[in-house]
Amino acid sequence: MRIDLHTHSAVSDGTESPAALVATAAAAGLDVVALTDHDTTDGWAAARAARPAGLTVLPGLELSCRWFPADEPPVSVHLLAYLFDPAHPALSAELARLRAERLGRGERIVTALAAAGYPVVWERIVEASAGGVVGRPHVARALVEAGVVGSVDQAFAGLLSHRSPHYVAKADTDVLEGIRLVRDAGGVPVFAHGLATKRGRVVDDAAIEAMAGAGLLGLEVDHPDHSPAEREHLRGLAGELGLLTTGSSDHHGANKTTPIGACLTDPGQYEAILAAGTGTAPFTGPVGVPG
Ligand code: AMP
Ligand code: FE
Ligand code: FE
Ligand code: ZN
Repeated sequence: MRIDLHTHSAVSDGTESPAALVATAAAAGLDVVALTDHDTTDGWAAARAARPAGLTVLPGLELSCRWFPADEPPVSVHLLAYLFDPAHPALSAELARLRAERLGRGERIVTALAAAGYPVVWERIVEASAGGVVGRPHVARALVEAGVVGSVDQAFAGLLSHRSPHYVAKADTDVLEGIRLVRDAGGVPVFAHGLATKRGRVVDDAAIEAMAGAGLLGLEVDHPDHSPAEREHLRGLAGELGLLTTGSSDHHGANKTTPIGACLTDPGQYEAILAAGTGTAPFTGPVGVPG
């Protein structure tokens, strides 16, 4: 079984439609793919409708969160969630708040860039996102198209980096609250790329222990941004805390170079996710039949 539990479509900051994404997953020989767009479940229906025979789609989400250390500024953390009820009122209200927050913050970043003389126009970026969830990758593409930078990577390394004078943070969900919301909605919360130091500041073991205490069920261990040492540390921690472990590509289509299926989840761990998730069912079985 080839199982990839973290991918993005153009409904957030990937570049493939949900239908194209499930076709990519099947073509890559995956048996299971999770659709985990940032702060939205809007891609689920299209992924379900387009699901090729033989592929299971695990409906999911990547929730934008923050961890609040005692004496330091908040750390941005991402929470994967699977099999929750997408209509759960408190969770869907928080997702709506996060999407609105992204719009306001995106506009502030673009306004700051435009004031500094960069030829980017907020309305054009919103148009290009086609009603999806806006993020820095959309601004990055606009900077590439305007010829300001040569690549999305270059935009992230410079003008859009959290160290850039034009950077604006988002008011993301307190991760402990996010974990409770996902559990209340019958879902399975998994801490995404938790030790990826190449992305910026990361949390310490005590934070992960606190998350486990709040109801976290798993750690994403095998992720392209984790070094071998980071994976080993997380695997040990998962064993100590009784958490399940996952592996995934965090594929973003052409917005990143990582191919789908670059890292995979162990079938036994996937079974544990299926057993723990009660808010909705995976999209599986014969195509054309509601699964
Ligand atoms: P935001 O959510 O708006 O703060 O933007 C962060 C998102 O940009 C994350 O979801 C990453 O997947 C994505 N990202 C981070 N670095 C890069 C990069 N170098 N190239 C493309 N996407 C990136
Ligand atoms: Fe992303
Ligand atoms: Fe992430
Ligand atoms: Zn992701």
